[in-house]
Amino acid sequence: MNSVTKKFAGWGNYPAEQCRAFRPEKEREQSALVAAHSSLIARGLGRAYGDAALNPDGLVLQQKLGRFLDFDANSGVLSCQGGASFADIIETFVPRGFFLPVTPGTKFVTVGGAIACDVHGKNHHRDGNLSNFVESFELLLASGETVTCSREENADLFWATVGGMGLTGIIVRARLRLLPIVSAFISVDYKRAPNLDAALEQFGSDGNYQYSVAWIDCLASGDSLGRSVLIRGNHAVADELDDTERYAPLRTPRKKKKSVPFPFPDFALNPLSVKAFNAAYYATHPDGHAIVDLDSFFYPLDGIDNWNRIYGTRGFIQYQVVFPFATSRAGLVQLLEKIAASGRASFLAVLKTFGEANQSPLSFPFAGHTLALDIPFSDDLPEFTRELDEIVLRHDGRVYLAKDATLSPENFRAMYPRLAEFEEIKRRVDPQNKFASSLSRRLDIGEAAGDTQ
Ligand SMILES: Cc1cc2nc3c(=O)[nH]c(=O)nc-3n(C[C@H](O)[C@H](O)[C@H](O)COP(=O)(O)OP(=O)(O)OC[C@H]3O[C@@H](n4cnc5c(N)ncnc54)[C@H](O)[C@@H]3O)c2cc1C
Repeated sequence: MNSVTKKFAGWGNYPAEQCRAFRPEKEREQSALVAAHSSLIARGLGRAYGDAALNPDGLVLQQKLGRFLDFDANSGVLSCQGGASFADIIETFVPRGFFLPVTPGTKFVTVGGAIACDVHGKNHHRDGNLSNFVESFELLLASGETVTCSREENADLFWATVGGMGLTGIIVRARLRLLPIVSAFISVDYKRAPNLDAALEQFGSDGNYQYSVAWIDCLASGDSLGRSVLIRGNHAVADELDDTERYAPLRTPRKKKKSVPFPFPDFALNPLSVKAFNAAYYATHPDGHAIVDLDSFFYPLDGIDNWNRIYGTRGFIQYQVVFPFATSRAGLVQLLEKIAASGRASFLAVLKTFGEANQSPLSFPFAGHTLALDIPFSDDLPEFTRELDEIVLRHDGRVYLAKDATLSPENFRAMYPRLAEFEEIKRRVDPQNKFASSLSRRLDIGEAAGDTQ
């Protein structure tokens, strides 16, 4: 089996590390690799932003085994290999009247990667995380054995793997309950909020919408601090479609893709250009209503190949946090003030309400408000995010591991108080700490397990 050694990175292009990667083409090849090597991590489509799917000290196992194995149209349960992509699921199943029950802001993720991060979408306030729709999965363990995990069978391993960032084993197959839909369109309401208080108040009417998110201008300050455009919608029904759409309601329009051909020079993105972009976005999104296709609503950035190159060769991080409702306003104001004052450019920042947490010890969401924003890399970025982390901790919040590249082990432990439960399960199924990544080493996850051997 061929291996390749080259620089790998997450979507933020920071950090980039030299790794040796294999791309198994059969499930048994993958089991043999796991049995034979002492340090491995699975990698899907590399859409986690930071160092979760990097392993310079061992192997990276690229997940390209992505066949659909079975589909039950009555229950909507799809059985597939862990490397199946959300893009492939959409292409095959939307024309048959099924969509993903939970989807992140890109469709270029694998089922295994999405379960490992327990991804959330614009419907978290109503439907929770992806794991709510995962019936079961087959997990390849460090021993080379494969076990079934579900809410009934190996339940603790099921919950540790959900959100477990690939550190319990490799999800080789999964059964996922898809969502029945009657059209491939979303009926969307746009509502402007002139500042943060107005945005948080508007979220109060989220109950009317299956999907809800706000674009927030992170560089606005003073009376406009936190000004936002709320974008909320429901799956469109036949009556809402025009004649052409109604004729083929499940047809997804094909669009020409744009591309960022090379990394932008560092000067292209500065606070002035981003401020101008943000002001223009706010001005051109008045209150209103529209019917939009699934791609435009869920994946606006997927229409531009390599959009991450606009942040230049040094890359960027995405900083995503959640605060509980009780402290979210105060925490958000402090974060936004600090970011606006720093002038660190961030467009397309996102604010949204989360519903309740689930049983997983490391899954990110809990009831409250979440903020996600891009920050270009600079030498003082780790120091700056350390200051942001302090604000997050003071307000009982936490950082999302799928986006993280800079958190310290101490702050991580303080943000994820159920880590010990996760580590106990990991020690049981992976006593040699075989499944490890740059993220797990940076955060000292599972290190104790390896040390004791
Ligand atoms: C534009 C954009 C928008 C995003 N929006 C959201 C969002 O709205 N909500 C959200 O929750 N996330 C969001 N994300 C993050 C993204 O959804 C997750 O990081 C997702 O897990 C990436 O999937 P992947 O296949 O690329 O996995 P990778 O990035 O390759 O890996 C991510 C993690 O999953 C593990 N992993 C991968 N495959 C397997 C497997 N088969 N078995 C076990 N572990 C595995 C890896 O070891 C790693 O720890 C976004 C990312 C981008 C780039």
